[in-house]
Amino acid sequence: VPALRLTGIARTYAKGLPGEVRVLSGVDLEVAPGETVALTAPSGAGKSTLLHIAGLLDRPDSGRVEIGGRDAGALGERARTALRRDAIGFVYQFHHLLREFTALENVMLPLLAAGQGRRRARERAMALLDAVGLAGRAAHRPAQLSGGEAQRVAICRALANRPRILLADEPTGNLDPDTAERVFALLARLAREEGQGALIATHNMELAARMDRALRLERGRLVPAS
Ligand code: ADP
Ligand code: ADP
Repeated sequence: VPALRLTGIARTYAKGLPGEVRVLSGVDLEVAPGETVALTAPSGAGKSTLLHIAGLLDRPDSGRVEIGGRDAGALGERARTALRRDAIGFVYQFHHLLREFTALENVMLPLLAAGQGRRRARERAMALLDAVGLAGRAAHRPAQLSGGEAQRVAICRALANRPRILLADEPTGNLDPDTAERVFALLARLAREEGQGALIATHNMELAARMDRALRLERGRLVPAS
């Protein structure tokens, strides 16, 4: 079962209005479990739109979104929200960690929200922080972390619930090149190890080339990059 399958996704903003923009016009994509796929394109090409649709934050005008084999279009709002929470991990350009919580607590939150007990949530969160080299930062708050460290915590948080698919929008856009490269490698390694599919939007072609596949959005469709 693919982690993510998109079929014939189309999306136009401001339909029928003077500002109408057709952003996606028939996107087909399958991401297998453990597979990392880069999504490249110039700014404004529709990467965020595609990630929002794949992440069930927006609905396509037409086409089908399946997460771990479940057709999201067939679900009501509550079931969609549950599927988003349980099966999709998000990483953004800025970490969006909660300031008043420690790194460990930030990673534990989605586990607790999903009903896991405190002790098991803590063990899972600690194991993830350890896997990204941040065991020693568990008790630090976001303000005490470097940009790269905070982004690694955000990746741990996104993967905590073992989602089917990780969606990342310019996850390293805010980091210096060396840190970006390390965070990117880590994200790919964790996704592979944990068997999650990953779809990662980036402007950085070098980093994109390290993924299992690199695709480009061109005139509303996905084509092989390079
Ligand atoms: P990217 O992430 O590749 O920069 P986006 O998906 O953010 O691209 O945007 C694609 C195009 O759609 C851009 O021209 C943008 O201005 C437009 N757009 C995005 N969101 C909206 C919206 N909510 N309403 C109108 N236009 C939008
Ligand atoms: P990024 O590509 O880094 O995610 P953007 O500036 O393209 O940042 O988009 C940020 C948010 O604003 C997205 O949720 C997008 O859908 C929305 N957005 C982008 N362009 C427009 C627009 N022209 N009108 C309304 N919303 C937009």
